[in-house]
Amino acid sequence: MKRLLLIGTGGTIAAELGENGLAPELTSAQLLRYLPDIAAIAQVDCLQLFSLDSTNIQPKHWVRIADAIAARYRDYDGFVVSHGTDTMAYTAAGLSYLIQQSPKPIVLTGAQKPIGFETTDSKQNLRDAFTVAASDLRGVMVVFNNKIILGTRARKTRSKSFEAFSSINYPLLGLVREGRIVPYIPPEETGGPVFYDRVDPAVSLMKLIPGADCAVAEFLLQRSHGLIIEAFGVGGLPSYKAGDFYEAVRAGLEAGRTVVLTTQVENEGSDLSVYQVGSHLKRNLPILEAYDMTTEAVTAKLMWILGQTRERQEVERLFYTPVARDIFMAQ
Ligand code: ASP
Repeated sequence: MKRLLLIGTGGTIAAELGENGLAPELTSAQLLRYLPDIAAIAQVDCLQLFSLDSTNIQPKHWVRIADAIAARYRDYDGFVVSHGTDTMAYTAAGLSYLIQQSPKPIVLTGAQKPIGFETTDSKQNLRDAFTVAASDLRGVMVVFNNKIILGTRARKTRSKSFEAFSSINYPLLGLVREGRIVPYIPPEETGGPVFYDRVDPAVSLMKLIPGADCAVAEFLLQRSHGLIIEAFGVGGLPSYKAGDFYEAVRAGLEAGRTVVLTTQVENEGSDLSVYQVGSHLKRNLPILEAYDMTTEAVTAKLMWILGQTRERQEVERLFYTPVARDIFMAQ
């Protein structure tokens, strides 16, 4: 029988209703009591790391989860992390960089309704997560509403429905149907695990709006080591009076910052070469382009890279090197 570890971090799945709304109260051991039949799937131990609404989860918490898994990696066949849904895609991406090439499954799940509610997706999601954690699938994944999603491709795309997560610019890895896995894509070959324990949280994100003021980008570049700009369409930067973004970005790069251009369009990614507003940027400035990566993955990858190095060529090499199938169009 497989040995699995359930790591509790909070979220709605573990929430109880108090005077001011839902707050994460239940521990992973208390969660497990709602699934008495789990013993038929695996032998499960519990570890409670923290009890947070995932709005309060920060990159340092990704490191704590990764460290907890690293310390117990040999003792278990798979890991389930129960987590709030709001930032689960960021944590899934963060863990994908902190634990690379894992031959064992590391599965994040959560729920839109608490496990104690009469109508809830918690039990199904948790049970499916254990099914995947006990399988031959590998690496970091999100399991939610029957879907198995690669950790670098997950995004919360619905704020209320049980169908809360989508896989962006990449197919689902498979489905869980009545306790069985229907695989769509074979798992990647792995030579790991390779663990990392450092991230640089000084990364910012600016979403462009019509008429955006480049002083905002200047400010963010002063405050951060890395800036991600979510541009329009396939990508480009505005150049009008209050918006000389080119100059702001050039100065930031000269001061040693890393700048990544991505798109605010959910599907199909960026291609800066198409329009004049974008093509001159890559010709003239050492900016990076996200292509088909999700913003969640770009954020976590940049934090992971800047935690290792700030040397420009090495940053660029690491950024364009695929990790856990996070980027394809750069190749
Ligand atoms: N606010 C909650 C959280 O992310 C939402 C959820 O878990 O569904 O912790």
